[in-house]
Amino acid sequence: MIDTHCHFDFPPFNDDTKRALMLAQEGGVKKIVIPTVGQSNWSKVQRLCQRYPALYYGLGIHPFFSAEHTSDVCQRLNIELKAAVQQSHSKCVAVGECGLDFAIETLDRELQQTWLQAQLQLANIYRLPIILHCRKAFPELVRAIKAETPSQGGVYHGFSGSYQQAVQLIDLGLKIGVGGTITYERAKKNARGYRETTPF
Ligand SMILES: [Zn+2]
Repeated sequence: MIDTHCHFDFPPFNDDTKRALMLAQEGGVKKIVIPTVGQSNWSKVQRLCQRYPALYYGLGIHPFFSAEHTSDVCQRLNIELKAAVQQSHSKCVAVGECGLDFAIETLDRELQQTWLQAQLQLANIYRLPIILHCRKAFPELVRAIKAETPSQGGVYHGFSGSYQQAVQLIDLGLKIGVGGTITYERAKKNARGYRETTPF
């Protein structure tokens, strides 16, 4: 199994990286993809992945941190991605985490959309899949993906939508990621969306 979304550089994983990796391996998780959140942790995660063979990463700007990034940083992301994918045995396997979060009122929506669009373009330039985050912005996210469809697909993480929404994402070439919500007794809508669109 490959975990496609684990912030392995954050607690509780970063206290004892070796032990956390060992526990993951014991549970059958052989590889882990770490999405980055912005310029502040790109190099930290890159170093971590150089050190441990099981770790891989994506480079991106998470919507939570959209206000901290200027267009210069987007240029930097372009340069970092270019350098990362040119390395032999590159461990950069995605662009992200990026996306839209309209659940938090204080986050500038227009800025989030600008960074998402830029990252969708970069994913296509470097032929990498995309790691997507979305809360309360489903129609806007779908619109952005339709305008710049990632040629290598991607994962919409922590999916908690309906069957119809899952189908829309799959039709756009994406995979849906599920988190703990799938196990909630009351999450009937989510469970149906997942069961009926995911071949086991
Ligand atoms: Zn995440």
